[in-house]
Amino acid sequence: MNLYLGLTIAAINRIPVFLESADNPAIQTVVISIFLGFILGFLINYLADVLPATRRLSQPVCPECKQPFSMKEYLFSLRCAHCRQRRTVRYVIVLISSISLSVLLRFFPFHGLNFWATLPLLIYLGMIVVIDLEHRLVLMETSLFGFILILIYGIYFHGILGAISGALGGMLIMLVFYILGVVFGKVVGKLRHKAINEVPFGFGDVVFGMILGLLSGWPAIAAALIIGILVFSAYSLLWLIGLILTKRYKSFSNAQALTPFLILGTIVLFYL
Ligand SMILES: [Zn+2]
Repeated sequence: MNLYLGLTIAAINRIPVFLESADNPAIQTVVISIFLGFILGFLINYLADVLPATRRLSQPVCPECKQPFSMKEYLFSLRCAHCRQRRTVRYVIVLISSISLSVLLRFFPFHGLNFWATLPLLIYLGMIVVIDLEHRLVLMETSLFGFILILIYGIYFHGILGAISGALGGMLIMLVFYILGVVFGKVVGKLRHKAINEVPFGFGDVVFGMILGLLSGWPAIAAALIIGILVFSAYSLLWLIGLILTKRYKSFSNAQALTPFLILGTIVLFYL
């Protein structure tokens, strides 16, 4: 298994030889990166459109009138042909971000991986971030897929034992925060005499902590999650102060998406 996975990534590592031979100047590399970044952004947008609604790779529909988009419409039109509803600004933000990240990866490779081997990771993490930001949700389906995908990277980076111990560590740390969040919610609910449905850490975040553990290994995952949660807490606090100052604060229904911060903590550690 280990040898097989190693061979797969080694094969992906050899792809660029065909595309980036010595007579292929840097500018051409950047153009290829921009083009690939565009495709990545499109894929992330597509997955974030269909997965939360249908949990499978289905035909995208207009979020406003629910009419299905044709392939041509979905690719090239910024408005729905039926109700003229504009696409959200998310499409543009995702495209610009994925193009930028794709170019940056050329100059700052991820943990010794070549550019091509990093792309599936980029699509997966990008999709998780967009879905969590829009729906405050980590889907079970994407977690199952993610576990298998990231296990391959984990075994390549740390060996099977390193990856599994990272996953266990990541899960346990997030479980502690999850339980603390539930207890906190119960206490506050008792004090206010009403139940609080939104907790800062959902169970999807616990599963995602386990997946990031596969990628980081132990003990790096502990540092990664703690950095992520600290930045998340600081950000949430600033957000809360902002809401209170502008008088838009409504109890605890303003919880933020956590996974972008956990990913941030993990990526930062890889580049330190
Ligand atoms: Zn429409």
